[in-house]
Amino acid sequence: MLRFLFLILVIPRLYSGQTIQDCKKRFHTYLNFREQLSNRVEFTSDAIFFLNRKGQKELAVYQHEINMIAEFFENTTPAEQMEFIRKKGLTKYSKRQRDSLWILMDDDKKPSKRKRQKPLQGYRIAIDAGHFAANIQEARLEQKFLAIVKDSLRSPGDTSFLFEAELNFITAQLIQKKLEEAGATVFNPRKSKGLTALGCSYADWFRLYRERTLDSLQRCKELSEERAQQLKLLSPYKLFWAFFRDFELAHRARLINQQKPHLTLIVHYNVDEQNAPWIRLSSRNATMCFIGGAFTADNLSKTESYLHFIRMVLSNQLNESEKLSALTVTAFSNRLQINKAHTEDIDYLNDNCLKTNSEGVFSRNLMLCRLINSPLVYGEALFQDNVMEFDRLLQAVSSTDKTPLTSRLASVAECYTEAVINYCKNK
Ligand SMILES: [Zn+2]
Repeated sequence: MLRFLFLILVIPRLYSGQTIQDCKKRFHTYLNFREQLSNRVEFTSDAIFFLNRKGQKELAVYQHEINMIAEFFENTTPAEQMEFIRKKGLTKYSKRQRDSLWILMDDDKKPSKRKRQKPLQGYRIAIDAGHFAANIQEARLEQKFLAIVKDSLRSPGDTSFLFEAELNFITAQLIQKKLEEAGATVFNPRKSKGLTALGCSYADWFRLYRERTLDSLQRCKELSEERAQQLKLLSPYKLFWAFFRDFELAHRARLINQQKPHLTLIVHYNVDEQNAPWIRLSSRNATMCFIGGAFTADNLSKTESYLHFIRMVLSNQLNESEKLSALTVTAFSNRLQINKAHTEDIDYLNDNCLKTNSEGVFSRNLMLCRLINSPLVYGEALFQDNVMEFDRLLQAVSSTDKTPLTSRLASVAECYTEAVINYCKNK
């Protein structure tokens, strides 16, 4: 696969040039959670310095290198990025060195400008349908389900279940259909309801592939022998939380990044946090979207996170994610008639997130928001345990073979589609 091309001639590029000021603004708007990273980056009039854990400058990015290095971090592996930091350090590249490092993007990395017959022709869009549990055993393990006892409407003890993974998956399929009709090429890392991104259920993975996976991670030194042995002894529930959850999310991100999407939609439904343990319905509802950012000092202790952080400071992916997310949350609010969430009303928005300049859009260092290498929206359209929504969602899933186009899930899918089309129109 063509990754680098060391060019002798300068190829003129159409760039909306990033300045040091742009990066500084991005760092403060999206990334520097409670000023915890102020000692890891220094912005001067002619350079951006990234500092290691000991406070020593280890990478300088000068004004005219920003675009090149941003692109480098969007197109290379962690090992290549570490090597780059080690070699470049604080040196200032000559024009020749800079030009020699330009990465020739795959021709189709940017959507082709040929006259489009359809609004999304030429776009590759990934859709991640959150979670995977579609039965009560796996949902208990993943802790993403509602079991509501509806004593007023039905006989006491009659419990209705909603599995978030199922809502996400049906919604993703509806979005996929609409985006494909609009000309996009769509990729979904999960092939069927109830399957993880590894192509099997968690129960099957645990039974058939657990040992093999842990052994191979041990062989390539991603796990120590001791850790791999410990993990092998864990119960399905404990192994899910100690290992599988993050392992599967990283696999989703890897599959998505391989497709080099122009955009990624991450589809979830929320609950009212004040309504835990979610055995009855709530009157509250709110809509919100997340993008990456909001790194804490601890987050940067892992090399891989530090490299993602550098990419996010230098490239304009976060700004693009905010635009896409602002369009999405506005579509949710208008079409679904739900108010946008505010920091004061919800603890995790206050405790873990940075609010952006777009109402209802928050930076949050969720794993997929960090690992996925494209502009993205992580949508949380509504509260499933809201008294009105719960019934609408139950209705939508009870006719799973053919989700009515008037269902609540279809309306949510319409919001994502509208936001994508508007976003691409403005590009
Ligand atoms: Zn979720």
